[in-house]
Amino acid sequence: MIKLEKTKDLRSWISDQKMRACSIGFVPTMGALHEGHLDLVKRAVSENDLVVCSIFVNPIQFNKPEDLKKYPRSLESDLEMLESAGCDLAFCPGVKEMYPKPEKIVYDFGMLDKVMEGEHRPGHFNGVAIVVKKLFDFVEPHRAYFGQKDYQQLQVIKALVKKENLEVEIVGCPTVRESDGLAMSSRNQRLTPEQRREAPKIFRALDKARTMYPEASLDEIKAMVIDEINTSPHLEVEYFEISDAETLLPVTRPGKNQKLVACIAVNAGNVRLIDNVLFGVCL
Ligand code: AMP
Repeated sequence: MIKLEKTKDLRSWISDQKMRACSIGFVPTMGALHEGHLDLVKRAVSENDLVVCSIFVNPIQFNKPEDLKKYPRSLESDLEMLESAGCDLAFCPGVKEMYPKPEKIVYDFGMLDKVMEGEHRPGHFNGVAIVVKKLFDFVEPHRAYFGQKDYQQLQVIKALVKKENLEVEIVGCPTVRESDGLAMSSRNQRLTPEQRREAPKIFRALDKARTMYPEASLDEIKAMVIDEINTSPHLEVEYFEISDAETLLPVTRPGKNQKLVACIAVNAGNVRLIDNVLFGVCL
């Protein structure tokens, strides 16, 4: 596996591969890799001639400086994991390389980036859109792989591609979970043993919500989820929303065939965990 830090080296490698008519799959990450990331890489390997992964902790998508400071970093083991998953090139730029000058672009995604994560993390999705657009410009991938774990992010990226008329195909991949149901996340390693023991309650409540639908009302489902999680002294629901699976606008009375997504953010001490389930649809 090749490791590059400079965009000009990446561009030149990409243009060589494009001349050879190779299809390129791309997996952007912030490192501290786990099986969830590797699942995206393996899917990309199975669908493309070559796979590029980026490891870049993007400062402009963090709305809290302490969250950026505490974000786990493990470059050496990340590179080993990428290589064994079949990645061909790891792009690991520094902040100056990605942002030689301050970014001023403000994307307009309508309500898509204003609700849920957008409401609680102002500026987060603009930072995500800026970095992903830059990376797409460097890598020019045929396909790019994103996890359903970050469901709202996946919808924002799809909107970005549409808005900017990009040719990349966005592939959404199912959430990979620990055996007790907790969605894998780089942040899980920051949980205390007590918080880690309680954290599976999040998916348990979401899974129960899925089985209650459509017999129970959305209000009943919401009350159950919030109650079951907040009974734990280690967990506190920041938001739980049941929304239209495409627009992400909150739904109170679902239409007959309306696809819904239930999204949650939970604070376990100062570790913020997000998860979601779709009602009645699979990715
Ligand atoms: P991150 O490094 O957290 O920015 O994540 C990089 C990519 O991996 C994003 O597309 C995430 O949605 C995806 N991802 C993170 N955790 C999981 C997971 N548990 N299952 C599937 N995809 C994931």
